[in-house]
Amino acid sequence: MAENAVARPAGSVALVAVSKTFDAAAVRVCAAAGQRAFGENYLQEALAKIEALRPLHLEWHFIGPIQSNKTRPIAENFHWVHSIERERVAVRLNEARPANLPLLNVCIQVNVSGEASKSGVAPSDVSELAQAIRALPRLKLRGLMAIPEPTSDSALRRRRFALLRELQQQLDGQGYALDTLSMGMSDDLEDAVAEGATMVRVGTAIFGKREA
Ligand SMILES: *Cc1c(COP(=O)(O)O)cnc(C)c1O
Repeated sequence: MAENAVARPAGSVALVAVSKTFDAAAVRVCAAAGQRAFGENYLQEALAKIEALRPLHLEWHFIGPIQSNKTRPIAENFHWVHSIERERVAVRLNEARPANLPLLNVCIQVNVSGEASKSGVAPSDVSELAQAIRALPRLKLRGLMAIPEPTSDSALRRRRFALLRELQQQLDGQGYALDTLSMGMSDDLEDAVAEGATMVRVGTAIFGKREA
Protein backbone atom coordinates (compact mmCIF):
# COMPACT_ATOMS: atom_id res chain seq x y z
CA MET A 1 0.00 0.00 0.00
CA ALA A 2 1.09 3.59 -0.58
CA GLU A 3 1.16 4.20 3.18
CA ASN A 4 3.80 1.49 3.61
CA ALA A 5 5.94 2.82 0.83
CA VAL A 6 6.39 6.15 2.60
CA ALA A 7 6.41 4.82 6.16
CA ARG A 8 3.06 6.19 7.22
CA PRO A 9 0.89 4.14 9.56
CA ALA A 10 -1.63 1.79 7.95
CA GLY A 11 -5.08 3.32 8.20
CA SER A 12 -3.86 6.93 8.25
CA VAL A 13 -5.22 7.54 4.77
CA ALA A 14 -8.96 7.20 4.15
CA LEU A 15 -10.22 5.98 0.82
CA VAL A 16 -13.14 7.62 -0.98
CA ALA A 17 -14.25 5.33 -3.81
CA VAL A 18 -15.27 7.58 -6.70
CA SER A 19 -18.30 5.90 -8.23
CA LYS A 20 -19.31 8.57 -10.78
CA THR A 21 -20.72 7.02 -13.99
CA PHE A 22 -20.96 3.59 -12.30
CA ASP A 23 -24.38 2.37 -11.24
CA ALA A 24 -25.82 1.46 -7.87
CA ALA A 25 -25.09 -2.22 -8.46
CA ALA A 26 -21.36 -1.46 -8.79
CA VAL A 27 -21.43 0.56 -5.58
CA ARG A 28 -23.23 -2.28 -3.84
CA VAL A 29 -20.48 -4.74 -4.79
CA CYS A 30 -17.82 -2.38 -3.47
CA ALA A 31 -19.81 -1.80 -0.26
CA ALA A 32 -20.14 -5.55 0.24
CA ALA A 33 -16.34 -5.70 0.23
CA GLY A 34 -16.32 -3.27 3.14
CA GLN A 35 -15.98 0.16 1.49
CA ARG A 36 -18.20 2.80 3.17
CA ALA A 37 -17.24 6.17 1.60
CA PHE A 38 -18.20 7.00 -1.98
CA GLY A 39 -17.51 10.11 -4.06
CA GLU A 40 -19.79 11.58 -6.71
CA ASN A 41 -19.49 14.53 -9.11
CA TYR A 42 -22.85 14.71 -10.81
CA LEU A 43 -25.79 15.54 -8.60
CA GLN A 44 -28.71 13.88 -10.40
CA GLU A 45 -26.80 10.66 -10.89
CA ALA A 46 -25.67 10.70 -7.28
CA LEU A 47 -29.14 11.30 -5.85
CA ALA A 48 -30.52 8.25 -7.63
CA LYS A 49 -27.76 6.06 -6.17
CA ILE A 50 -28.07 7.51 -2.69
CA GLU A 51 -31.81 6.83 -2.74
CA ALA A 52 -31.39 3.29 -4.07
CA LEU A 53 -28.71 2.43 -1.49
CA ARG A 54 -30.13 4.22 1.56
CA PRO A 55 -30.54 0.99 3.58
CA LEU A 56 -26.75 0.46 3.38
CA HIS A 57 -26.02 3.70 5.32
CA LEU A 58 -23.05 4.62 3.16
CA GLU A 59 -21.09 7.86 3.50
CA TRP A 60 -21.46 10.15 0.47
CA HIS A 61 -18.90 12.74 -0.60
CA PHE A 62 -19.71 15.43 -3.15
CA ILE A 63 -16.50 16.16 -5.07
CA GLY A 64 -17.66 17.96 -8.22
CA PRO A 65 -18.28 21.57 -9.23
CA ILE A 66 -21.28 23.10 -7.41
CA GLN A 67 -23.87 25.38 -8.97
CA SER A 68 -25.37 27.59 -6.29
CA ASN A 69 -28.93 26.59 -7.25
CA LYS A 70 -28.07 22.95 -6.47
CA THR A 71 -26.93 23.43 -2.91
CA ARG A 72 -30.11 22.22 -1.17
CA PRO A 73 -30.07 18.59 -2.39
CA ILE A 74 -26.34 18.45 -1.69
CA ALA A 75 -26.84 19.72 1.87
CA GLU A 76 -29.68 17.27 2.43
CA ASN A 77 -28.04 14.11 1.07
CA PHE A 78 -24.27 14.23 1.47
CA HIS A 79 -21.98 13.84 4.48
CA TRP A 80 -19.05 15.65 2.92
CA VAL A 81 -18.45 18.35 0.29
CA HIS A 82 -14.86 18.60 -0.97
CA SER A 83 -15.30 21.24 -3.63
CA ILE A 84 -16.13 24.57 -1.97
CA GLU A 85 -14.65 27.42 -3.95
CA ARG A 86 -17.02 30.28 -3.16
CA GLU A 87 -18.43 31.83 -0.01
CA ARG A 88 -21.87 32.05 -1.61
CA VAL A 89 -22.00 28.26 -2.03
CA ALA A 90 -20.88 27.73 1.56
CA VAL A 91 -23.55 30.11 2.85
CA ARG A 92 -26.25 28.32 0.91
CA LEU A 93 -25.10 24.87 2.04
CA ASN A 94 -25.15 26.11 5.62
CA GLU A 95 -28.70 27.45 5.27
CA ALA A 96 -29.92 24.23 3.68
CA ARG A 97 -28.26 21.74 6.03
CA PRO A 98 -31.16 20.11 7.92
CA ALA A 99 -31.13 20.63 11.68
CA ASN A 100 -31.62 16.91 12.35
CA LEU A 101 -28.42 15.93 10.51
CA PRO A 102 -24.87 16.22 11.84
CA LEU A 103 -22.79 19.18 10.62
CA LEU A 104 -21.83 19.00 6.95
CA ASN A 105 -18.10 18.26 6.61
CA VAL A 106 -16.47 20.52 4.04
CA CYS A 107 -13.14 21.11 2.37
CA ILE A 108 -12.00 24.16 0.44
CA GLN A 109 -10.85 23.28 -3.06
CA VAL A 110 -7.58 25.05 -3.82
CA ASN A 111 -6.02 25.73 -7.18
CA VAL A 112 -2.45 24.56 -6.59
CA SER A 113 -1.55 24.62 -10.30
CA GLY A 114 -1.77 28.32 -11.16
CA GLU A 115 -2.69 28.97 -14.76
CA ALA A 116 -2.65 25.26 -15.59
CA SER A 117 -5.97 24.87 -13.77
CA LYS A 118 -9.26 26.70 -13.49
CA SER A 119 -10.88 25.13 -10.45
CA GLY A 120 -10.30 26.03 -6.85
CA VAL A 121 -9.56 29.23 -5.00
CA ALA A 122 -6.15 30.84 -5.35
CA PRO A 123 -3.79 29.99 -2.48
CA SER A 124 -3.84 33.66 -1.45
CA ASP A 125 -7.64 33.54 -0.99
CA VAL A 126 -7.84 30.38 1.11
CA SER A 127 -7.58 32.13 4.46
CA GLU A 128 -10.45 34.52 3.72
CA LEU A 129 -12.76 31.71 2.58
CA ALA A 130 -11.81 29.64 5.63
CA GLN A 131 -12.79 32.54 7.90
CA ALA A 132 -16.14 32.85 6.18
CA ILE A 133 -16.81 29.13 6.56
CA ARG A 134 -15.78 29.17 10.21
CA ALA A 135 -18.67 31.55 10.88
CA LEU A 136 -21.25 29.12 9.44
CA PRO A 137 -22.67 26.96 12.25
CA ARG A 138 -23.99 24.05 10.17
CA LEU A 139 -20.69 23.46 8.35
CA LYS A 140 -17.56 21.89 9.77
CA LEU A 141 -14.40 22.90 7.97
CA ARG A 142 -12.26 19.75 7.85
CA GLY A 143 -9.48 20.75 5.46
CA LEU A 144 -8.36 21.36 1.92
CA MET A 145 -8.74 19.57 -1.39
CA ALA A 146 -6.87 19.86 -4.68
CA ILE A 147 -6.71 18.35 -8.14
CA PRO A 148 -3.30 19.20 -9.63
CA GLU A 149 -3.00 19.39 -13.38
CA PRO A 150 -2.27 16.02 -15.00
CA THR A 151 1.46 15.58 -15.46
CA SER A 152 3.98 12.75 -15.69
CA ASP A 153 6.46 14.89 -13.74
CA SER A 154 6.42 13.34 -10.29
CA ALA A 155 8.53 16.12 -8.76
CA LEU A 156 6.07 18.74 -10.00
CA ARG A 157 3.20 16.72 -8.61
CA ARG A 158 4.92 16.50 -5.25
CA ARG A 159 5.32 20.29 -5.19
CA ARG A 160 1.61 20.79 -5.90
CA PHE A 161 0.62 18.46 -3.08
CA ALA A 162 3.21 19.98 -0.75
CA LEU A 163 1.70 23.42 -1.37
CA LEU A 164 -1.70 22.16 -0.21
CA ARG A 165 -0.13 20.75 2.93
CA GLU A 166 1.68 24.01 3.63
CA LEU A 167 -1.54 25.99 3.22
CA GLN A 168 -3.22 23.71 5.71
CA GLN A 169 -0.36 24.18 8.16
CA GLN A 170 -0.72 27.96 7.77
CA LEU A 171 -4.40 27.73 8.64
CA ASP A 172 -3.66 25.57 11.63
CA GLY A 173 -1.19 28.25 12.70
CA GLN A 174 -4.12 30.69 12.62
CA GLY A 175 -6.09 28.58 15.08
CA TYR A 176 -7.87 26.05 12.91
CA ALA A 177 -7.63 22.37 13.72
CA LEU A 178 -7.94 20.81 10.28
CA ASP A 179 -7.60 17.07 9.91
CA THR A 180 -8.18 16.50 6.21
CA LEU A 181 -5.98 16.81 3.15
CA SER A 182 -8.08 15.45 0.29
CA MET A 183 -5.57 14.82 -2.47
CA GLY A 184 -4.56 11.95 -4.72
CA MET A 185 -6.46 10.05 -7.42
CA SER A 186 -5.74 6.79 -9.28
CA ASP A 187 -2.73 8.17 -11.15
CA ASP A 188 -1.03 10.20 -8.44
CA LEU A 189 -2.04 8.77 -5.10
CA GLU A 190 1.45 7.57 -4.11
CA ASP A 191 2.84 11.09 -4.42
CA ALA A 192 -0.15 12.52 -2.57
CA VAL A 193 0.24 10.08 0.30
CA ALA A 194 3.96 10.83 0.46
CA GLU A 195 3.08 14.52 0.86
CA GLY A 196 0.58 13.95 3.65
CA ALA A 197 -2.79 13.12 2.08
CA THR A 198 -5.31 11.94 4.66
CA MET A 199 -7.99 11.15 2.09
CA VAL A 200 -7.51 9.87 -1.46
CA ARG A 201 -10.31 9.90 -4.03
CA VAL A 202 -9.93 6.89 -6.28
CA GLY A 203 -12.20 5.95 -9.18
CA THR A 204 -10.55 4.19 -12.11
CA ALA A 205 -8.25 2.01 -10.01
CA ILE A 206 -11.30 0.60 -8.19
CA PHE A 207 -14.12 0.55 -10.73
CA GLY A 208 -12.18 0.42 -13.98
CA LYS A 209 -12.13 2.88 -16.85
CA ARG A 210 -15.11 5.20 -17.28
CA GLU A 211 -16.86 5.44 -20.66
CA ALA A 212 -15.72 8.57 -22.46
C1 LIG B 1 -13.15 11.55 -11.13
C2 LIG B 1 -12.52 12.17 -9.92
C3 LIG B 1 -11.65 11.43 -9.11
C4 LIG B 1 -11.21 10.01 -9.40
O1 LIG B 1 -10.37 10.01 -10.51
P1 LIG B 1 -9.65 8.64 -10.99
O2 LIG B 1 -8.57 9.12 -11.87
O3 LIG B 1 -10.70 7.85 -11.73
O4 LIG B 1 -9.17 7.93 -9.79
C5 LIG B 1 -11.17 12.06 -7.96
N1 LIG B 1 -11.49 13.31 -7.64
C6 LIG B 1 -12.32 14.05 -8.41
C7 LIG B 1 -12.64 15.43 -7.99
C8 LIG B 1 -12.84 13.50 -9.57
O5 LIG B 1 -13.65 14.25 -10.32
